Amino acid sequence: MARDGERAERIVVIGLGRFGTSTARTLHGLGYEVTAIDIGEKQVADASGFVTLAAQGDGTDEDLLRSLHVEQSDVGIVAQGESLEASVLATLVLKRLGIPWVVAKAASDLHGELLRRIGADQVVFPERDAGTRLAHSLAVRQINDYIPLTPTTGVAKLPALPHFVGHTLAALYRDANLPLSVLLIRRGQTLISAPADEERIQVGDELILAGSDRAIDAFANGREQPA
Ligand code: ATP
Repeated sequence: MARDGERAERIVVIGLGRFGTSTARTLHGLGYEVTAIDIGEKQVADASGFVTLAAQGDGTDEDLLRSLHVEQSDVGIVAQGESLEASVLATLVLKRLGIPWVVAKAASDLHGELLRRIGADQVVFPERDAGTRLAHSLAVRQINDYIPLTPTTGVAKLPALPHFVGHTLAALYRDANLPLSVLLIRRGQTLISAPADEERIQVGDELILAGSDRAIDAFANGREQPA
């Protein structure tokens, strides 16, 4: 992203499937300078409307990447994960070009380990993560977002439900009757970090809380459950 007086960060995205396309589009919308590369003509034509530069070619071809000045990128994203060989080679080439932060998409745990060993700075598992988030969001249906910490605990983003409004956190904790912590409340543009137990929830607040799934569930449903 471009901060005042600084150049926009440059990001190269290799592979324009659903994951690569949505990543490239979002990054461009956030103000990054995005170069997108795919071997498919159609994928490149589609992306040309929403990235800085869309180029057709093999993302493992070092000469092609150099001709596109990819070595000047701050971040490289290997967004194609179906072909293990292409994913490994593209990651290796991006690191050889000296890109400081390379993110690669893995299709399996072993694939992820391989990517890390050859130098990927970050490995993402979009399908696995989406499945985990969906499973947790069904357990606590009101949550907007969820980061798992262990198989049964996590950090959840929850809107201020109608039965929260006007109540203090202490009262809501009491109703949940299980240990958990509200880490942050977003109230409009204001962030209230580590809110006091006396903090009263207002309409439109958003809460970030951490605890076991059972505690989060009890907190969300506290006043709707029979005592
Ligand atoms: P998604 O789940 O994101 O839709 P996918 O699993 O359908 O992805 P992938 O095999 O991960 O498909 O490929 C995503 C894109 O990467 C495709 O558009 C494909 O043309 C492109 N691609 C595959 N190999 C290369 C390569 N060597 N260089 C550049 N692009 C590639």
